Amino acid sequence: MFRIFMINFKELASTYKTPLYIYDLDAMKAQYEQLKSAFKGRKSLLAFAIKSNSNLSVIKNFADLGSGADCVSIGEVRRAFLAGVPNYKIIFSGVGKSDDEIREAIERDILYINVESEAEIGRVELIAKELGVQCRISIRVNPNIDPKTHPYISTGLHDNKFGVEIDAAKRMYIRANNSEHLDPVGIHFHIGSQLTELDPIYESAVIVADLVRSLQSIKIELKFFDIGGGLGVRYKDEETIKPYDYAQAILTALKGLDLTIVCEPGRFLTANAGYFLTKVLYEKKNGAKRFVVVDGAMNDLLRPSLYKAYHRIEALTQSQTELSDADVVGPVCESGDFFAKNYPLPILEHNDLLVIHSAGAYGFGMGSNYNTRGRSAEVAISHGEVKLIRRREEFEDLIALEKEYLDN
Ligand SMILES: *Cc1c(COP(=O)(O)O)cnc(C)c1O
Repeated sequence: MFRIFMINFKELASTYKTPLYIYDLDAMKAQYEQLKSAFKGRKSLLAFAIKSNSNLSVIKNFADLGSGADCVSIGEVRRAFLAGVPNYKIIFSGVGKSDDEIREAIERDILYINVESEAEIGRVELIAKELGVQCRISIRVNPNIDPKTHPYISTGLHDNKFGVEIDAAKRMYIRANNSEHLDPVGIHFHIGSQLTELDPIYESAVIVADLVRSLQSIKIELKFFDIGGGLGVRYKDEETIKPYDYAQAILTALKGLDLTIVCEPGRFLTANAGYFLTKVLYEKKNGAKRFVVVDGAMNDLLRPSLYKAYHRIEALTQSQTELSDADVVGPVCESGDFFAKNYPLPILEHNDLLVIHSAGAYGFGMGSNYNTRGRSAEVAISHGEVKLIRRREEFEDLIALEKEYLDN
């Protein structure tokens, strides 16, 4: 785990209260630079996948390094603009874009829209025509490769809703090339998230590069080879793909093709640079079963409930007792509300802190207000300095959009 300096979790808890998200911006920067340098010598664009951590200050931290943004809603596109990502580095992906979203993306003149179906290319063409412009597009190809990750985060199989088959993609490129309102500039694939095996990525890149060559033979020249995101990180003891090997695999697949490589990392940049800090409320036992009840819950960090994801937990306590297995659970009224099952922990006291590691990706962003719980505050640390980047949600925030409709 990469930590340049010690984070004073106790002080953070007393200043900002818990539950709290903490992001190490320097660690995010180091991840960005490591991946960027793996592609050195080639034209490349890293477009940070905003959905992994969409706080404006986090996006700005990447924008300042030259990063682009991969967005999956017009809200994310607006966030990218607000945080200072230039229009020519913004990509808009996703299987279901509304007409309004497509229109706004075209008006904002972003780098390209990633089109995910034949029906969608029709909508994009029509809207570009209405606006009297030509829209840059890329087509998301579904290479039908098993990424060997959790089924909920696998996206590159025909069973998944994402992208189009090779033959359909080819038809769509020909159509786009003949259209006054479409400018096919890129090709895209993204086979899943938390990928820890290189072979499926390489095989997908080969399939997609072959399509690029076949398009060249009919005079359709693309500029961007968009390899999506998905690079896995270590949550526990996973062997992960090294950025250098990843880049080499892509370059091997591309051999002879001089396209700009676009990569859309999310988790790789943010996961291990984030911590979720929560406080112990009490311990309890039901029969032989031990529970540690904390003030954070599934509405703050959903990954364990949603994917049974593992997060390392560090207990900050004076307790010298032996470790024994406990379920770490939150106050939400769901049995699925847990951060860990059978996790070895010492006996904990009221107000002891638990640091939940690797919480920087798909953490806060998947949060909700379930059980009328305000979402946590977020703080960022850079060069040892801490700043608040999102204040804690208060009760008034939660009812603001309903209050006026209450009949009295
Ligand atoms: C989610 C997503 C990403 C980022 O995935 P990570 O696993 O976080 O790197 C990149 N591109 C697209 C199209 C996505 O949907």
